[in-house]
Amino acid sequence: MVSIKLTRQQEDYINAIYELQDTFGIAKIVLLSKILKYSPGAINDELKRLEGKGYIERIPYSGLRLTSIGFDAAKITVKKHRISEAFLFKILDVPWEKCHLLSSEIEHSISGELEMYFMKKIGEKGTCPHGNSFNIEEDKDDIRALDAEPNKNYLVKRISYEESTTLMLMKIYGIMPGKKIKIISKTMDTVTIENENGIFPLEGIYALSVRLNE
Ligand SMILES: [Zn+2]
Repeated sequence: MVSIKLTRQQEDYINAIYELQDTFGIAKIVLLSKILKYSPGAINDELKRLEGKGYIERIPYSGLRLTSIGFDAAKITVKKHRISEAFLFKILDVPWEKCHLLSSEIEHSISGELEMYFMKKIGEKGTCPHGNSFNIEEDKDDIRALDAEPNKNYLVKRISYEESTTLMLMKIYGIMPGKKIKIISKTMDTVTIENENGIFPLEGIYALSVRLNE
């Protein structure tokens, strides 16, 4: 593991880029600026710094990707994010759909000895409330709802894209980690699922964010 020195803001950038890459395969600037709540022009300077330090690479006409150094940084920063989400959810009873946003208040301070105490309290091998593993390497082998097979039953493993509207909608639909769903039908970018709450079409972002296990 390389030594990683990032500012709080850079940690937010790495986490957001990781989340987008995990969901879409690439981080598009327009979605990144939406997550970070700055205009695409305003995030450019920081992206240049991260590129200069070798954390990210630009893919012409499509977006950004973490380099292997960037991925090593994400292992640390995403873990801190997910530990603090789990802490907010399990210990402070923060609502499921709010943990992602509120964790930014505390996640940057979690490291070293303090991280050890957090882990002791919430468990070493955990996931965030949205099912995303503390160890990002463990999130590779799941199935996107869009790639699942019709007429087959699955368990929801995680919601990879933790944006508030997505989380709120998944909560209303009852699509949360550990819940059963059945794939009813599919088109190019929409998958229709059935679960104990009813029948729901998942389009675009949602069809990519819901990750399943058999
Ligand atoms: Zn989460």
